Amino acid sequence: MEKKKPDRNMLIYRGVIVILIVIFIALFVYGLNKVLAMEGTLPPINNEEGLTPAPVSASQGIDFLNTAYKKATELRPKVTREDTFSVDEDSIDTFGNDRLKSTLAFVSGSFEEVLEDSFEDIETDFGQEFPAGVMAPAIDGSAVIPHKYYACEKCGKTSDEAQETCEECGAETPYAEKTQDVRCKYIYYSCRSCGERSDVQRPECEVCGCIYPYNEKYADEYEVTLWLDASAVQNYFSPPGKEQIKEILAPETENWFDIKDYTVEYGDVHIYYKVRRMTDEITYLEYYRDMTVTADLLFNEQYETGDAKVKFNLTEKNKHSFTWPGIELNKHEMSVEPGATDNLLATLTCTDPTKPVVTWTSSDENVLTVDEEGYIKGGKEAGTATVTASFEFDGKEYSDSCTVNIRYSVESMKLNKRKANLKTGDTLTLTAKPSPSKASVKTVTWHTDNPEIASVDANGTVMAVSKGKTVVYALSDDGYYKSSCEVNVN
Ligand SMILES: [Zn+2]
Ligand SMILES: [Zn+2]
Repeated sequence: MEKKKPDRNMLIYRGVIVILIVIFIALFVYGLNKVLAMEGTLPPINNEEGLTPAPVSASQGIDFLNTAYKKATELRPKVTREDTFSVDEDSIDTFGNDRLKSTLAFVSGSFEEVLEDSFEDIETDFGQEFPAGVMAPAIDGSAVIPHKYYACEKCGKTSDEAQETCEECGAETPYAEKTQDVRCKYIYYSCRSCGERSDVQRPECEVCGCIYPYNEKYADEYEVTLWLDASAVQNYFSPPGKEQIKEILAPETENWFDIKDYTVEYGDVHIYYKVRRMTDEITYLEYYRDMTVTADLLFNEQYETGDAKVKFNLTEKNKHSFTWPGIELNKHEMSVEPGATDNLLATLTCTDPTKPVVTWTSSDENVLTVDEEGYIKGGKEAGTATVTASFEFDGKEYSDSCTVNIRYSVESMKLNKRKANLKTGDTLTLTAKPSPSKASVKTVTWHTDNPEIASVDANGTVMAVSKGKTVVYALSDDGYYKSSCEVNVN
């Protein structure tokens, strides 16, 4: 059967429509992000200092870890410990015995499992004492060794490897070699429009097209890395002895070979930990160390191999995770209209068998009331009060609170003029109109991009200062809505 030819003109016509739609969407999304960056709701950036300043020296890094450990010993969060081992297959050396080499590579997975199974995972519940061995004992700063790293001189991007050119900013100069005693990460940068994160400041956003530089932000936790000298391993982490290792491995290996001798050479140790900046609560601790293992083996008769020597690299990671008792509300600031109701949700992290009861309180019952399930009822008048949810555990009280504004919120804002042509010396008073009209907080603050062309006072009165073009805008005190007027001074 002959197929009917599709109408060529129809296809082209459809193609053009699809292309137009795609271009339209692309422009719209790009444009929208630009508009969001300029006119959107931009809360102020709030970078607070932590309870303990970020550690910058070896002794501060160690002190900080020890303080966090002490706090954990007192408040007894839930702790789990897990050990993992990995054999670097590329490092296996059998001194010329190829058959042995491929066999060892084949069994390295089960070797890792055997090691992992012999180190018991530890788990304590909330309020329990740490068993011995959950963590390293106190370490002093003299064990810390400086760590070499590389950084782009132009944008500040860092790497553990030497780099010839910068992937981040395109600079065609090699990274500079640097050293540090302690690495503490908590500053990052993010796009004010789409939220894209980066380790370095970027002048604009490639992801969404926002034309403004990234904002500097502080993460909730300090992420600290320290490097300890190999000798510190013997003193602080008491690695398993030769006999212990033999004992662990014997049941698995005795059908194959006998371990005649065995040496372990330890490399440097990394300690990596995370602590909440505002509370000094440790949430994660990991130490990992590389070791080179050399073993003299005597194979059982049936293998016809006899004596053999093997060498390989092994990495051990001990990971400790901490979960702290606490309570977290789903919101920390909210608005409720006068007379209306809304509710807050509290998440409890604590598996106490006595099931602690959450108590809800209002700081001012005239402004709002809250019931035993977190339901809030706003009073008749506008006002602000704090709602606190708390519970008691192990003799200590834990709480979280939310600032509740009883008011009609601003939802948008407009100026009476979007464009004004003035002569030098002229004045013009702009009016900002937040919506809805019953909004409780209608005040705004006035700004000008260039006061040398046009100034603006607290009442929105614009004064044309000199020839040129600028933008005068108002920011609503409730919700930070922005609306602007283009001012041309002739
Ligand atoms: Zn760079
Ligand atoms: Zn972006």
